[in-house]
Amino acid sequence: MYFKMGISEDVLAFTRPVEAELKERFETIDEIAEYNQLKVLHAMQEHHLQEAYFAATTGYGYNDRGREALEEIYASAFHAEAALVRPQITCGTHALTVALFSCVRPGDEILSPVGKPYDTLEEVIGIRESPGSLKEWGVSYRQAELKEDGTFDYEAIKKAINEKTKLVEIQRSKGYLMRPTFSVSQIGELISFIKGIKPDVICMVDNCYGEFTEKIEPTDVGADMCVGSLIKNPGGGLAPIGGYIVGTKACIDQCAYRLSAPGLGQEVGANLGLLPSYFQGFFLSPTVTAAALKTAVFAASVYEKLGFTVMPSAKEERHDIIQAVTLGSPEALIAFCKGIQQAAPVDAFVSPVPDDMPGYEDPVIMAAGNFVSGSSIELSADGPLRPPYNVYFQGGLTWPHGKFGILKSLQALKDAGVVKFPAL
Ligand SMILES: *Cc1c(COP(=O)(O)O)cnc(C)c1O
Repeated sequence: MYFKMGISEDVLAFTRPVEAELKERFETIDEIAEYNQLKVLHAMQEHHLQEAYFAATTGYGYNDRGREALEEIYASAFHAEAALVRPQITCGTHALTVALFSCVRPGDEILSPVGKPYDTLEEVIGIRESPGSLKEWGVSYRQAELKEDGTFDYEAIKKAINEKTKLVEIQRSKGYLMRPTFSVSQIGELISFIKGIKPDVICMVDNCYGEFTEKIEPTDVGADMCVGSLIKNPGGGLAPIGGYIVGTKACIDQCAYRLSAPGLGQEVGANLGLLPSYFQGFFLSPTVTAAALKTAVFAASVYEKLGFTVMPSAKEERHDIIQAVTLGSPEALIAFCKGIQQAAPVDAFVSPVPDDMPGYEDPVIMAAGNFVSGSSIELSADGPLRPPYNVYFQGGLTWPHGKFGILKSLQALKDAGVVKFPAL
């Protein structure tokens, strides 16, 4: 089948021993999935998930018992007091925006203790001037850079905390940066440090791509709010839209008032018939995340062996599903993305090209042939067209498909003359 689908013998010969070396890594990933599968199952059983909860609601969505159960199940699985899980949250950036706006008032300050936040948040915060930003609402922003080695600069963080600091935003995943993704326990240490200086500061974690990659989540280590997208890990590939915020009851109430309206809060919001996909997607999420992790580890191993800089490295522990590879030239970045596109179940016949994207500063190339538009728990790759031409690769609903995607990317790089294999 590989030959039939355009993979050449030298690509297969090169990757076969790489895969064989990953047995133990894969066992660890499976063990985490096993634990998280039971965590989700336990939450579903605890809250008496039943067929009646799958019913669609429309209009205001009052008395939507299924929606309430979904939020109880998320809260329970994340060991949080409350959750807001809604199709009315349009994407990850929107979920983060709701969380950021909900708990600050004019005169307050937001601190990022982990350097620059995700690109789209620059406009939300007002780092890049934008209508409707937090800056326009009189909320100031400060960031403490990470140290050279990617660790927290506790001195700088301490200095940045002041009487105005109301909320701290900690991004778990690297986003479009070459820095390490933080483990949940590292995030826990950071939260303890910050609360030691200012106990009432709200610690919010951008958990995008991190869900179920470890046995614990940021809410297990003191995060007041933990935020993510349903078209990434927790939607399990089935959720067609949505975002979630889990955390303390006080914070989730504020988020609900911000998302709908003061006074209405969590009481409104029709589920539009999407609940079966949310429940089932959450159920599948631990194993789907495991497939994406295996794909990432395989990609790191293959590209590291070819001499590329990869982050994280092949041997490192994983705290998210993102794999960055420094490809070094626009040609290589474009070829890689074309290869991923050719491996897709949908739109495999089209060819991605770099273009401007709302919320992003540089032109971006994105490869995704998805069942759910833009879903990045599905096999996808993207990267901004700026040196050093990093590709950020993620997803794979199944391991065989993720593997095929990496083989296709390698084949495309070979065909473009970027990589050469020893003669067989
Ligand atoms: C994906 C992502 C976001 C934004 O989510 P969108 O759904 O693309 O708006 C924010 N932060 C991080 C770390 C992400 O990976």
